[in-house]
Amino acid sequence: MGKEKDDYRGLTNAEVEKSLKENGPNVLKNKKKVSYIKIFLEQFNDFIIWVLIAATVLSAFIGEKADAITIIIIVVMNAILGFIQEYRTEKSLEALKNLAAPTAKVIRNDEIKVINAEFLVPKDLIILESGDRIPADCELIEGNNLLVDESLLTGESVGVEKGVNGNKSVFMGTIVLRGKGTAKVVKTGMKTEMGKIANMLDSIESEKSPLKQKLAALGKVMVFVCIVICILVTLMGILRGQNKYEMFLLGVSLAVAAIPEGMAAIVTVALALGVSRMLKRNALIRKLPAVETLGCTSIICSDKTGTLTQNNMTVEKIYFNDCIVNIEEFEAKNLELIKKALVYCNDCAYDFKQNNIEKALMGDPTETALIKAFFKDTKSLKEFLNKGKRIFDIPFDSNRKMMSVVFQEGNKKTSYVKGAPERIIERCKYILMGKEILPFDYEIKRRVIKQVENMSYNALRCIAAAYTENTTTMGENIEQNLIFIGIAGMKDPPRPEAKDAVIKCKMAGIRPVMITGDHKNTAFAIAKELGICKSEEEVMVGEDIDSLSEKELLSEINKLSVFARVSPKHKLRIVKAFKKKNNIVAMTGDGVNDAPAVKEADIGVSMGISGTDVTKEASSMILLDDNFATIVSAVEEGRTIYDNIRKFIRYLLSCNLGEVLTMFLASIFYLDTPLLPIQILFVNLATDGLPAIALGVDPPDKDIMQIKPRSKGESVFARGLREKILLRGSLIGICTVLAFLSGKYYGMSLETCRTIALCTLVMSQLMHVFECRSEKHSIFEINILTNPYLVGAVLVSVSMLLTIIYFPFMQTVFHTVPLDLGQWILVLFFSGTISFINSIYLFLRKR
Ligand code: ATP
Repeated sequence: MGKEKDDYRGLTNAEVEKSLKENGPNVLKNKKKVSYIKIFLEQFNDFIIWVLIAATVLSAFIGEKADAITIIIIVVMNAILGFIQEYRTEKSLEALKNLAAPTAKVIRNDEIKVINAEFLVPKDLIILESGDRIPADCELIEGNNLLVDESLLTGESVGVEKGVNGNKSVFMGTIVLRGKGTAKVVKTGMKTEMGKIANMLDSIESEKSPLKQKLAALGKVMVFVCIVICILVTLMGILRGQNKYEMFLLGVSLAVAAIPEGMAAIVTVALALGVSRMLKRNALIRKLPAVETLGCTSIICSDKTGTLTQNNMTVEKIYFNDCIVNIEEFEAKNLELIKKALVYCNDCAYDFKQNNIEKALMGDPTETALIKAFFKDTKSLKEFLNKGKRIFDIPFDSNRKMMSVVFQEGNKKTSYVKGAPERIIERCKYILMGKEILPFDYEIKRRVIKQVENMSYNALRCIAAAYTENTTTMGENIEQNLIFIGIAGMKDPPRPEAKDAVIKCKMAGIRPVMITGDHKNTAFAIAKELGICKSEEEVMVGEDIDSLSEKELLSEINKLSVFARVSPKHKLRIVKAFKKKNNIVAMTGDGVNDAPAVKEADIGVSMGISGTDVTKEASSMILLDDNFATIVSAVEEGRTIYDNIRKFIRYLLSCNLGEVLTMFLASIFYLDTPLLPIQILFVNLATDGLPAIALGVDPPDKDIMQIKPRSKGESVFARGLREKILLRGSLIGICTVLAFLSGKYYGMSLETCRTIALCTLVMSQLMHVFECRSEKHSIFEINILTNPYLVGAVLVSVSMLLTIIYFPFMQTVFHTVPLDLGQWILVLFFSGTISFINSIYLFLRKR
């Protein structure tokens, strides 16, 4: 603001507390709380479950009371598992909503702080900047050039000038398009204009994940197939003269076990858990479907300043009087005018209570770096600023790439302008040389441009300064016929982690692309240092993009890795062109003008620290640390999550196929039923729940970032998964029936044969779950302990199995018998052989 903060003190804590009590929080609608009882009850809201319960009650009446009670217990336990999955999902989504809640920059207790907009109260003082969504209805008390988009309220898309003609009211939900200002909150919450319309945009969108939708459609087909098979199994049993009620119960139990009702829920859990893992790595996901798309990303377009670089700027060199000086020599040379231009024409906010200049400055790093270059303490800075006052300003704008102020000292009004050298040079008619003002002729201009080239080749970010005296009018015309003063060259080193992230991207078949408003040479120097590009042929500037037609840009785009001196409008063209070339594009943005490009990208990425509200709202992911490496981590997580979803789909479907096939084969070959209804339900409980969830949190495969991104339209069953499921499911079914028949062959009782079949079915699934951890590596190559949850889940399932066959009470409930060593060998032979052969096959294939 260039304004001393002492002018505004703001409310005290006590005043805020009192007002909050009187006016309530600044929210439009009370957030709906999820009812946990409802979530639990919804677990029973399933047609098949109702049929099962009805069948159970029926069988209780005909005498099988113990069976009925056990079935009900199993149904309730299944519901508890389902509840836990959904509860976790709701919790993570709620946490995300709170994190993505709108914020406000408020002045309280004489301090500027960023708070959750919910806690704003009337009379609070807030700071408004371009890109902010205004958090409450306010009255402007200071503001220059404030342009506000009120389309949300009025439908009128043309921006409205505020602070002129007495128009000082700004409203909740509208967006500051340009300018800065300070405003006093007048109304909050439902009392605002927006509250009257009560039409709040929820900050988190609950869009359905495309994968979940596809799986839901697949689920419907599977329900149909399962029901047909179950009816067949039931009818064939009845035809063979078996008890009708028993066969009915068997059919329904098989349907319950075979239908992968948990699949869609586990997808959500896997996505939600992935989202919280991403959050730990500083990537906040706003739209769940983005997690899936992240894994397909083939191009990451990233801003330079602050994302690839540290945003830690220091002025290194100053050019004036046709010579370059290091900043340390500057005082000796004592050129007051460049100091005035860069310090008066500056949007930092100051806290003069702090002695330490580092702590006293708040604002854009470019701006603070310029002040720090000239001042080491706040006292001298305050004296310098108190020589006059700012009476007009045009804030920095990344389209114009410059800013201007009019500063009044006594009666003297001087305009100071600073910005990208090309923009300043084209507006200058004269140049200051020593004490003389000379015409800015071709020869001198050429020398100045050469200096800019040299500085930017050395990766310095250049800001030029100019001025005019005796300003009379206030407007953009103060930027005409300027007198050139000099250039400040700033260093902003690359982030140390960015280089590794670029290498990781390249190995993963992802192309990193730099998009920056900075000079071509500065951009190239940094991109080269980071490994983003090798030659200058990969660099294009905004002006060149303008001169290319749509078709020409398309033919060039895949060769380019750096776009320099671009404006936000170019970003949109770049995203569109990359997308047309069948790329899946992630694009970063911070300023208000970046929002369209961020929205257009497959993955719109906004900056948590420097980003504006509008860009955050347009994005599907927020980088809490503004760091490029975080995007790469998020892509890695996205790939891991998708892989894990494939893992448990493979596991669940092949196991369920195995269960259905066991019963189906037995019935078409006129065998005794190998499993009783209660045993089928047990298999479902022991194998479907915990192991599948544990697969959802499997750590990534070692080479997850060494393969190309998958294509976006790819089916979840692509790359051989369908065949794997069909083959493995059939083998599980066949082996279970063979184990059952072997028991019969050795003359064992029907109960023993059923226990052997039960154990074979459970054990083959529990072995298969480890195979599902990798599509390429055999069990021998995977370290089983890297997923302790899975080991734990399998141990729980095995203990459950042992409990129902070795505890006498359980034996009566589940109709099982204890197995001896010989029988266990039979079980392990039939359940382990396929896993063993499969692992040997994978192992040999790789050799
Ligand atoms: P990126 O898009 O990677 O963040 P950037 O921050 O360099 O790049 P802009 O902020 O649009 O892009 O800046 C473009 C140019 O405008 C800079 O190279 C510099 O010359 C000039 N500039 C940047 N900040 C200011 C400022 N606060 N005042 C005046 N000129 C500025």
